[in-house]
Amino acid sequence: MIDLSGTHGVIVGVSNKRSLAWAIAQAMDAVGAQLTLSYATERFEGNVRKLGATLCQPPLMVPCDVTSDAQVRDLCATVERERDGLDFLVHAVAFASRAALSEPFLETSREDFLQSLDISAYSLLALARAAAPLMDQRGGGSILTLTYLGSQRVFPNYNVMGVAKAALEAVVRYLASDLGSRNIRVNAVSAGPIKTLSAAGIPGFSQILHHYRDRSPLGRTIDAAEVAETARFLLGPGGRGVTGEVLVVDGGFHSTGM
Ligand code: NAD
Repeated sequence: MIDLSGTHGVIVGVSNKRSLAWAIAQAMDAVGAQLTLSYATERFEGNVRKLGATLCQPPLMVPCDVTSDAQVRDLCATVERERDGLDFLVHAVAFASRAALSEPFLETSREDFLQSLDISAYSLLALARAAAPLMDQRGGGSILTLTYLGSQRVFPNYNVMGVAKAALEAVVRYLASDLGSRNIRVNAVSAGPIKTLSAAGIPGFSQILHHYRDRSPLGRTIDAAEVAETARFLLGPGGRGVTGEVLVVDGGFHSTGM
């Protein structure tokens, strides 16, 4: 078991106990990392505070709507004030409107397109820019985001999220290139389908789950703990030689032809 005592990380994207960000928070807490959890709006605050109280080390709790440059700045300013630099950042944030996920992709409005790309892809750039100076104080760091195979292939109703994930994966590579000389690594875990609040917003999600179960080499879907353990590997010392990478955790589904 790795020991991350003395490290500090920010995790953006916890909304409830099913959130992949929460699984990652638990995995990092279990090996001694001290955390800051952010929540998108007051609606989620109570939930996130309750979850945070179950961690071994009490986390900092900070509101952060990633569409607001001021809130992204405030999040990092709070970390700078309260902690001694930053070792890792987890970005587990995505959004697409109900219409964008249920109407034909061809009908996606400009407004829905821009909103989805802003929240799901640009936000990684905004957070990385604000977090990098805090990572400099620690001699480097690790940034991780979550993506999905819908960036490369078409899945029913994934629509504009697929475009946003393609952009997000490109953001990972360009950030990795910019930040490598500062010893800051940037990677993504591409997770197979898991029932969460966001996933429930995709009409026909259960069919996607069944398809993965039937077609994956492992003959099953994956769970949040499996994503979290891969995230921990990439965030921790085991991943020190890895950057600009999209690591797929989907029971092997992506590798199959038929
Ligand atoms: P989730 O609903 O628990 O997490 C999504 C998070 O995004 C929520 O915490 C929500 O509050 C946050 N968010 C949305 N708009 C925001 C904003 N403006 N500011 C700040 N936060 C905002 O669902 P999840 O499945 O855990 O999603 C986490 C990440 O994992 C997403 O990027 C998602 O695309 C990705 N992912 C999920 C799956 C899956 O099947 N569940 C598969 C692959 C990738």
